[in-house]
Amino acid sequence: MALTRIGLAGLAVMGQNLALNIADKGFPISVYNRTTSKVDETVARAKAEGDLPLYGFHDPKSFVQSIQKPRVIIMLVKAGAAVDQTIETLSGHLEEGDCIIDGGNEWYENTERREKAMAARGLLYLGMGVSGGEEGARRGPSMMPGGSFEAYKNIEDILLKVAAQVPDSGPCVTYIGKGGSGNFVKMVHNGIEYGDMQLIAEAYDVLRSVGKLSNAELHQVFSEWNKGELLSFLVEITADIFGIKDDKGDGYLVDKVLDKTGMKGTGKWTVQQAADLSVAAPTIAASLDARFLSGLKEERVESAKVFSSAGLAGTLSGAGGHPPVVDKEKLVDDVRQALYASKICSYAQGMNLIRAKSLEKGWDLKLGELARIWKGGCIIRAIFLDRIKQAYDRNPELSSLLVDPEFAKEIVDRQAAWRRVITLAVNAGVGTPGMSASLAYFDTYRRESLPANLVQAQRDYFGAHTYERTDMPGAFHTEWFKIA
Ligand code: NAP
Repeated sequence: MALTRIGLAGLAVMGQNLALNIADKGFPISVYNRTTSKVDETVARAKAEGDLPLYGFHDPKSFVQSIQKPRVIIMLVKAGAAVDQTIETLSGHLEEGDCIIDGGNEWYENTERREKAMAARGLLYLGMGVSGGEEGARRGPSMMPGGSFEAYKNIEDILLKVAAQVPDSGPCVTYIGKGGSGNFVKMVHNGIEYGDMQLIAEAYDVLRSVGKLSNAELHQVFSEWNKGELLSFLVEITADIFGIKDDKGDGYLVDKVLDKTGMKGTGKWTVQQAADLSVAAPTIAASLDARFLSGLKEERVESAKVFSSAGLAGTLSGAGGHPPVVDKEKLVDDVRQALYASKICSYAQGMNLIRAKSLEKGWDLKLGELARIWKGGCIIRAIFLDRIKQAYDRNPELSSLLVDPEFAKEIVDRQAAWRRVITLAVNAGVGTPGMSASLAYFDTYRRESLPANLVQAQRDYFGAHTYERTDMPGAFHTEWFKIA
């Protein structure tokens, strides 16, 4: 057998599909997995899917030796200890100039630690976020490689072909930057994904709980929305979900799915990073909190009983105890606008977080370019990302997407509908944490004057933290308690 161009270790969902994708694009690939049955499974799939040039190995040494030098191996195993163990297994067989690429959802500092350790042994390292799930990995994902530029250059030709291709925008991959920037950007991408999913779920909740739309109507509404400014993968799959009947009983499957959302950690990391960098990310944080609260199913069942017996039987009643009267068509249009405006705020938060980290680390990340590579392949792919790219093209130094003239106009045009939806939801007792957080973010960011003067006065009162004045420079302290 001739030497292959690249190797891939870790053949679960992502690894198996990415390996097949690479082989499909004509690059001969060697594959390896700790549990060898997955190697045989992948080889069988490669044969079945068109006799693709994919070669399986059961031991790490022959796997590594089957790849042409300088060797490049993509690793797609569980983040954390499994990555260290896989590096240990493979690196003993690697030679100077060879490279390992971690394609998992890894914590960016782990990538930076490993890059240093590998460099000390003459080896190259990249941390590459891969988005798109199973289908994306097989047909064309969005990829966010960061770390050694030399290593990126060694496989740029492969990545450009394997990535999702978007007409007029090109392949959904670019060299992100140094160190752990690729993993960091993928982490924030996932945080934004949390926001998108929560906002869509709230739109659904208002439409079904207040507007009384049936699943068939929701299917229609989301399908329609997917033809306009909300066109996106997540809105598309949401429309699909409302159309699927339960194959194990009556009705629709979505109504049988337990209302508990799982998570793996990237959303939590995003919120932790936002706090560490003093970047407000309330929509993403609200989405994470919503997942935490969803997990308290048993407590919520008990709580519903408590409040029901305390007189809140009709939680969905209007403020006066009557169900709100709504014009369905108008509500659908208002919710569409509220969803869009809320989404702008959520992306503004994610982009600001990336920019803050880039400044801290000296990564020099290009926000418009990130929007470009998210346009295809990944879970948050959407027509909307084009507008974000254009906003950063107009002004790469944009302080916030909210003040881009086009986005500012879009928000202004939608704010009446946005406020109507949230008011209606509040009066009906239907929580809209993501949309409400977005609106509060907008209302806070756009105001010249905030009540922060009072908070600072309180801090000075009890802690002598000093304050600045609006009418003269300097730091001041007042012994408030003596005057009071
Ligand atoms: P996964 O379930 O996260 O991990 C399973 C893989 O890790 C298997 O190949 C497994 O090998 C290997 N593994 C686990 N512990 C190991 C150890 N101690 N030593 C060596 N190998 C070990 O797989 P995945 O869902 O395909 O995801 C891979 C990476 O991509 C993860 O970082 C994930 O977060 C990220 N990701 C996943 C998705 C998705 O949709 N699934 C999307 C984007 C990114 P064995 O078969 O021997 O157990």
